Amino acid sequence: MSGPPPPAYAFSREGTAALRRLRGRRLLAAFDFDGTLAPIALRPEQVITPPGTRAALDRLRGWCTTAVISGRSREDVISRLGVTVDYAVGNHGVDGLPGAEREAAECVAVSQGWLAQLRSGEALRALDPGLLLEDKGVSLSVHYRQARDAGRAVASLPAVFAGLEPAPRIVTGKMVFNLLPPAAADKGTAMLRLLELSRAEAGLYVGDDVTDEDVFCLHQPDLLTVRVGRDDSSHARLYLRAPSEVARLIDALIGELAAARARGAALRTG
Ligand SMILES: [Mg+2]
Repeated sequence: MSGPPPPAYAFSREGTAALRRLRGRRLLAAFDFDGTLAPIALRPEQVITPPGTRAALDRLRGWCTTAVISGRSREDVISRLGVTVDYAVGNHGVDGLPGAEREAAECVAVSQGWLAQLRSGEALRALDPGLLLEDKGVSLSVHYRQARDAGRAVASLPAVFAGLEPAPRIVTGKMVFNLLPPAAADKGTAMLRLLELSRAEAGLYVGDDVTDEDVFCLHQPDLLTVRVGRDDSSHARLYLRAPSEVARLIDALIGELAAARARGAALRTG
């Protein structure tokens, strides 16, 4: 069985050429937050956007439409960004997605039901006191980064989730299980909706995790996808080595957009 072609390094000749093809078009640049704009920390509440990345994202907004699509709640991701973006969507695509308000309300009701069934996390702490239940409004997350016995927790949690009503869509991430209500949109759906809303002719999406594969798998011809962290089985077109390279990618993109604008101005005056 042949999988997708492995992603190329973003600053290789191939990567530079792919970035160049975004020139001169109405563009939407969207980013995941944890592990992409900001490096992962031991606890989710310790994560903030590094100043260099924040400044680059702020500069980029002068050149195209910007968006963040995060697994965090919308409110949480906005407070950690420290910079304004045109669209901030939380909870893997359901929280704050324009036009999806009814689905979001339905997701809140389902998540509250699960919270009650898990006795606000008591049922999880009985399993392992290091398990952390996060209420994200429209979804729940169970973090096991600090579990006493992570292997045992990972093995026994699916049975707990299977007992929930209605059955959640489980999306695994880095040391986390995300419990999404059946009506929740994924990041791919959210990206398509934002491309439409911003009337973009081309898109860039940067992410690092399993849930970002829903965007990488879209295979839209005018969507350039970048994974943070090399993984040859990813459907992304390009990869970066670490979140610390995201600011450099943004600046390279601004360079391309600026060159196209200067060329356009020269053609008009020349
Ligand atoms: Mg991430």
